[in-house]
Amino acid sequence: MATDLQLARLHREIVGCTRCVDAGYLPLAAPVLSGYADNRFMLIGQAPGAVEAERRLPFQGRSGKVLMQWLARAGFATEVEARRRIYMTSITKCFPGKGAAGGDRRPSRAEVELCRPHLDRQLALIRPALLILVGGLAHERFLPGRPLADLVGRVFDQSGRELGPRTRARPVLLPLPHPSGASRWLNDPANRDLLDRALGRLRSLLAASLDQELVGA
Ligand code: SF4
Repeated sequence: MATDLQLARLHREIVGCTRCVDAGYLPLAAPVLSGYADNRFMLIGQAPGAVEAERRLPFQGRSGKVLMQWLARAGFATEVEARRRIYMTSITKCFPGKGAAGGDRRPSRAEVELCRPHLDRQLALIRPALLILVGGLAHERFLPGRPLADLVGRVFDQSGRELGPRTRARPVLLPLPHPSGASRWLNDPANRDLLDRALGRLRSLLAASLDQELVGA
């Protein structure tokens, strides 16, 4: 397990990063992440939004409220508990600004690559038993080339193999759709059923999390 000192050192380095500013992709760097050295669950989103960048905490805006409702459905008693037990980060760690359509801009491949070493080091230090992958960029990084409907409601090992109820792996990968209201994917009742299934699997995984190695639940 990572020590508090190791994690504090890594967080200091990430928070001081200005790579995307230096490369001309961002006007301002304000990296956002939160977590503790003893966390065994890691949640990886796409990138922080404007509210998150201002508060320097993940999942603070409207998407964050929806995500917290999902986590409550998966068994976290309170938001405080979810934030204490889940290491929260993202594929890129700074607000990318608004895109042409008015929503948050999707970080470019170049920005993802610049930020990748930070995420690699977070993963190496935390060594999560469970990776909750929220949204397209996180899915692309860990389970590339699959439609959302083939991901949500299922769990995988890190080679991309789907896990059955009694298969062990570390980490277990559990994809979720993005909680942003901008996504219309959840308007389809069949997709809402997939989300229910995903949250049910997350609930089972949380219940089994006292085991060092999680099963596919
Ligand atoms: S997005 Fe990542 S690589 Fe780019 S400045 Fe922020 S922390 Fe650094």
